Amino acid sequence: MYQNLLRDASFYRLLIQLDDDLAAEARKRGCACGERLDRACYPRKPRGVPKELEDAYSCRHSFCCAKEGCRKRTTPPSFRFLGRKVFVGAVVVLITVLRHGATPTRMAALRELVGVSRRTVERWREWWQRDFVQSAFWKAACGRQRAPLDQSRLPLSLLDAFCAQAEKDRMVDLLRFLLPLTITSRAQET
Ligand SMILES: [Zn+2]
Repeated sequence: MYQNLLRDASFYRLLIQLDDDLAAEARKRGCACGERLDRACYPRKPRGVPKELEDAYSCRHSFCCAKEGCRKRTTPPSFRFLGRKVFVGAVVVLITVLRHGATPTRMAALRELVGVSRRTVERWREWWQRDFVQSAFWKAACGRQRAPLDQSRLPLSLLDAFCAQAEKDRMVDLLRFLLPLTITSRAQET
């Protein structure tokens, strides 16, 4: 069940590893000017992750060009942080997914599990239904799909569209699909 992922530390550890890999690739490429990149992480106060991983989720990888006069920032996409949202991306996806067909009592229990308010969950639903479906990213993605997805059931319909057997793998596939979105909004804000 998707709800098990909410407290699956191995899942959140995997996302750290995937972000580390993206950061290493970005650093290897270096700055567009050809100079090397220095680490310049954005501090984050992530919410929704298992307690023991809060430290590991407290910085978003980012780099700054080492050359005086350039200093251009490079922020790789992230499996963990979905743009400016305070809660980690996986929680924004999972809680909205679990809303579908859930009773009010069950939803209250899920909200308590990750410490999110009803209002915030409502904002996430609006984000999927309004901002996400109107984004250039989603419009381009729709053009590549063989069959249209039910937009009223996002992000569940999107998650179901990935064919990996294990739910954890489908979630990783979905987060990988969303990567371009994680660098379009101003990633440094919470
Ligand atoms: Zn540079």
